[in-house]
Amino acid sequence: MTKTLAVLGSTGSIGVQALEVAELMGFEVQALTANSRTDIIEEQIRKFAPKIAAVADEKAAADLKIRVADTSTKILAGKQGVEECARCGADTVLNSIVGIAGLAPTLAAIDAGSNIALANKETLVAGGKIVLDAAEKKGISILPVDSEHSAIFQSLQGCQGKSQIKRLILTASGGPFFGKKKEELENVTIEQALNHPNWSMGAKITIDSATMMNKGLELIEAAWLFGMKAADIDILVHRQSIVHSLVEYVDNSVIAQLGVPDMRIPIQYALTYPDRFVSPVKQLDLAQAATLTFEKPDYETFACINLCRKAFEMGGLYPAAVNAANEKANELFRNGKIRFLDIPRAVEAAFDYTADVSDYTLEQVFETDSLIRSETERLFI
Ligand code: NAD
Ligand code: MG
Repeated sequence: MTKTLAVLGSTGSIGVQALEVAELMGFEVQALTANSRTDIIEEQIRKFAPKIAAVADEKAAADLKIRVADTSTKILAGKQGVEECARCGADTVLNSIVGIAGLAPTLAAIDAGSNIALANKETLVAGGKIVLDAAEKKGISILPVDSEHSAIFQSLQGCQGKSQIKRLILTASGGPFFGKKKEELENVTIEQALNHPNWSMGAKITIDSATMMNKGLELIEAAWLFGMKAADIDILVHRQSIVHSLVEYVDNSVIAQLGVPDMRIPIQYALTYPDRFVSPVKQLDLAQAATLTFEKPDYETFACINLCRKAFEMGGLYPAAVNAANEKANELFRNGKIRFLDIPRAVEAAFDYTADVSDYTLEQVFETDSLIRSETERLFI
């Protein structure tokens, strides 16, 4: 039987690659969503003929309705429209929306009983336990798309239980500013920060890679996904992005997943798990790669990593708060409003404005998100 799929954030870097995989695998695409790029989503609608599609921006949605009036795809608008697409009931909903905007759609898709292929790491960072509890209640799986988490998930196949795992090791490319000290980063430009050495990705995550906030977010994502303590997750800078992450077992055996840096591998695995299929991705040529290097991150210069570790250890709303501060500061930096090192400063400042609670509701997550965004703007503009 043909597998059905919905892609949320289909016009982005991951969304476009997910549709490439879907086409190759012959999946039936039931729903697509975007924020504003009507030209791209129009093309996708014509190619995949989904039952429904949504555009978060209301004006853009009206434009799309006119563009595809000759097709049978129903066009919805706004946040609600995106959530309705998430509820389409596809076998798998792949969420590649960027930022906390992905949280409510993830919960909607879980509620509708779809399995989740998750690229939108901010969903787990901010929503944490709420998302996992909802998934458990519905008996659905959350399969990682993020390359490091896919690597860990793949390295855990055959693991007989959590007591056998000693630690997880996330690899990091180190981003464009690897080897630089704090003083050298004070005046870096947006163009320099957007120049990632190994991966071509959306703008927000590319800046997150330059600050290494991305690795901090991934540490929290891994802690939730695999039920690990933050203390049992280590980070190694691996400049070549070939070893995508590793699992160390109690017998000191280390199992890793390797491959060329191409997101279509983890996307395909999340969509076809537990099966594997032929992929158009280039074969890994280790003889050509020749050298693989590993070293400890510079936690002093890239302060965001340990701020995320601390947020996860403090628990409650702190992960949502550091995520919100980063999303806002990242956006302000991309708009030329603040300097690069204001991003870690904003993430650090978020702790002072966060309510210290152990249990929290979804409403509190969204309240924290908007409070920290406005505090960040107030403090740094
Ligand atoms: P992107 O900016 O290229 O695409 C983001 C998508 O989300 C677009 O389709 C956009 O229309 C949509 N979107 C943005 N704001 C929205 C809103 N308010 N409401 C609804 N839709 C909205 O980003 P990306 O690089 O594809 O990353 C997407 C997610 O995947 C992020 O969470 C990122 O951290 C994660 N991720 C990306 C990569 C990568 O290689 N690009 C790797 C691992 C994880
Ligand atoms: Mg990653």
